[in-house]
Amino acid sequence: MDTLKIKHAIIGAGAMGAAAAYHLARRGEPLAIIERFELGHARGSSHGAARITRHSYADPRYARLMPSAFQAWRELEAEAGTSLYLRTGGVSFSPPGVDYVEKVAASLEELGVPSWRGSGRDFSVLHPAFAIPDRYDVVFEPDAGILATARAVAIQIEMARRVGGDRTLVLDRTPVRAIDLGGDRPVIVTDSIRIVADRLIVAAGAWVGRLLPDWPVPVRVTRQQVLYFRPANPAPFQIGQFPVFIYKGADEDDAFYGMPDFPGLGVKAARHAGPEVDPDAHSPTVEESYRSIVRDFLRVHIPALADAAIGMTEVCLYTVAPNDDFAIDFLPARPDVMVASPCSGHGFKFSCLIGRILADLATLGTTDLPIDHWRYRPPAT
Ligand SMILES: Cc1cc2nc3c(=O)[nH]c(=O)nc-3n(C[C@H](O)[C@H](O)[C@H](O)COP(=O)(O)OP(=O)(O)OC[C@H]3O[C@@H](n4cnc5c(N)ncnc54)[C@H](O)[C@@H]3O)c2cc1C
Repeated sequence: MDTLKIKHAIIGAGAMGAAAAYHLARRGEPLAIIERFELGHARGSSHGAARITRHSYADPRYARLMPSAFQAWRELEAEAGTSLYLRTGGVSFSPPGVDYVEKVAASLEELGVPSWRGSGRDFSVLHPAFAIPDRYDVVFEPDAGILATARAVAIQIEMARRVGGDRTLVLDRTPVRAIDLGGDRPVIVTDSIRIVADRLIVAAGAWVGRLLPDWPVPVRVTRQQVLYFRPANPAPFQIGQFPVFIYKGADEDDAFYGMPDFPGLGVKAARHAGPEVDPDAHSPTVEESYRSIVRDFLRVHIPALADAAIGMTEVCLYTVAPNDDFAIDFLPARPDVMVASPCSGHGFKFSCLIGRILADLATLGTTDLPIDHWRYRPPAT
């Protein structure tokens, strides 16, 4: 079997791996990115047309990183000469007794990000597609929007090739069978080639635990189902008329999100929670019972969608770390191996910035961005 020696190897060409490749190539670093499926496949977490982006975070540690994340996307757009972010406005709403909106509003105020706050009745008057119960708490962020997901991933791979030239090697349809950490440098073992790298970034999403059994952060892999509705009258659900939305209720299962009709796929709506699955063995079919759950939510909050036809469905995976946090750090005792598992169902908006963070860690051993809350902390003894 051939052996390739390379400075940087990246496992996984999803949102995080593609961003790491782009940022390393921008720095003139030789790299190989290895993907088990075809580029742009639909078996992980980064497929589909769009993802929500927002400063609207209840956790201020995430909110504080969002200005840098927005900046990272702007820089990529400028360099690639294309637009990936679409400003739609975003509404966060919760029933009485749930302090989610209060925390989001505090984060927006701290950041100085413009927002509107009011009751469900006030908001529904302004946005008649919504029928948010009067006593709900609501905050609206005009700068929230949509990121073109699959296109952003493809463009970063393309940019890594364009900027890196022959310093960038892209190996798709190449499953990594094992990572050999027995020697002083990580060895990536595939069916056709062994890759010896000075630095290894493992951005394998739902498969991180399989590739790195010693990675101490427990992750759960959940199956996410997404519905695209085709309302009889689509006009109120177009971009500019209908914002992205996030509803957070009292318990974990009572959380839903969605976005306007983009690009012509229908109005997206989905529940945040999902069942735990084996990433290699789960059904691509959306259950009838799930459709009813989402319709019941819409019946109360966005009634014109509740009985609309479902034109398309999608299944996707979350890799959920404890407390819905991200996990980005060196493998314990291996400063040459970085692990990036920043998902928990909300990682895409950060991915371009996380690519920069991974390139920092790989080339400098550190980063100036405040990511301590994503780093692994061994349990107190
Ligand atoms: C339904 C849904 C909705 C979401 N909505 C939002 C949103 O609105 N806003 C937001 O910010 N985020 C959102 N997210 C989260 C976001 O999409 C993810 O955090 C992000 O895409 C994770 O990217 P990743 O690179 O870690 O994972 P992936 O894209 O899964 O990439 C991992 C890659 O590693 C490859 N791989 C695994 N094992 C191997 C191996 N042995 N050899 C070679 N390659 C391997 C896989 O094939 C895969 O391509 C959503 C996610 C889902 C599923």
